[in-house]
Amino acid sequence: MSEIFLLFAGGVGAAKFIEGLVKVVDPESLKIVVNTGDDIELFGLKICPDLDIITYTLANLIDKEKGWGFIDETFNCLSILKKYYDIGWFNAGDKDLATHIYRTELFRQNYSKDDITKKICKKLGVKAELIPMCNEPVETYIKTPNGTINFEEYYIKYQCKPEVLGIEFKGIEKAKSIDRVLEYIKIAKKIIICPSNPIVSIGTILQVEDMKEALIKVKDKVHAISPIIEGATIKGPADKLMRCLGLDVSCVGVAKYYQNFLGHFIIDNKDCKLKPEIENLGIKTYCFNTLMVNLKKKKRLAQFIINIK
Ligand code: GDP
Repeated sequence: MSEIFLLFAGGVGAAKFIEGLVKVVDPESLKIVVNTGDDIELFGLKICPDLDIITYTLANLIDKEKGWGFIDETFNCLSILKKYYDIGWFNAGDKDLATHIYRTELFRQNYSKDDITKKICKKLGVKAELIPMCNEPVETYIKTPNGTINFEEYYIKYQCKPEVLGIEFKGIEKAKSIDRVLEYIKIAKKIIICPSNPIVSIGTILQVEDMKEALIKVKDKVHAISPIIEGATIKGPADKLMRCLGLDVSCVGVAKYYQNFLGHFIIDNKDCKLKPEIENLGIKTYCFNTLMVNLKKKKRLAQFIINIK
């Protein structure tokens, strides 16, 4: 097999990086393990938010402004769904709902999440290989002072405002890594941990059986991009979740969380003063402009990582 690059990805942050990466390497060389810990069932439909974001990005169909869903989307179906169901907070456009309907129908025919992902990618013309972190259902719950709520609800309905008292991955103990992912970990030229939520995107993937142990064995190949710049997230609740786990909200905190399996860490130029602290953990550290505000910056970051020896 020709050279392959294995990626670990969440949603929006990873999609930005991948958009640049496919411009500097052959998309067919990419194997992307995607978090499925924030999958949810709503309106009787199976929804995989992170898989959909990465699929639509690679199919050139993503709404870049929103960071999710299809471009040129309409919301007619949702306007009626909201009359039938008491779920006013979840947004899914008409085209997006078509993906959820197709996926749900395939689940009913007993296809696995892995096979369904392959089918959707093929139909939408995605050349990279997308692989769900596992076939088993895993759901992320956030413990707040007012009760435990689904992560999507915490994120979208409550806009990450409630205090986070704990994080629970329901079903994770039964989650098995897909065989060829363990093989890809062994043979990949590089493994790249995308700039994604370290706790509820990457952290979930890492808890799938055998995943972390397999990465530890190939530490020298593992590269990560910090999703935290100057002690803050670009978007999303990574800061609150890191704090809840007792981690420092900084690239050093992320490095400590990934320490056991991380060989190389790309931090933002603005955090370069923290480089010695991370190198003391035994991680080779590089400073670069990691804020991906346009395609040029996304490509530059991707090329920089591909060039690391
Ligand atoms: P979601 O967006 O909540 O689905 O979650 P992701 O798993 O994609 O994680 C978002 C993370 O990506 C956040 O912690 C952001 O700080 C990070 N992120 C988003 N955009 C950028 C960027 O341009 N550069 C870097 N370094 N991190 C980013």
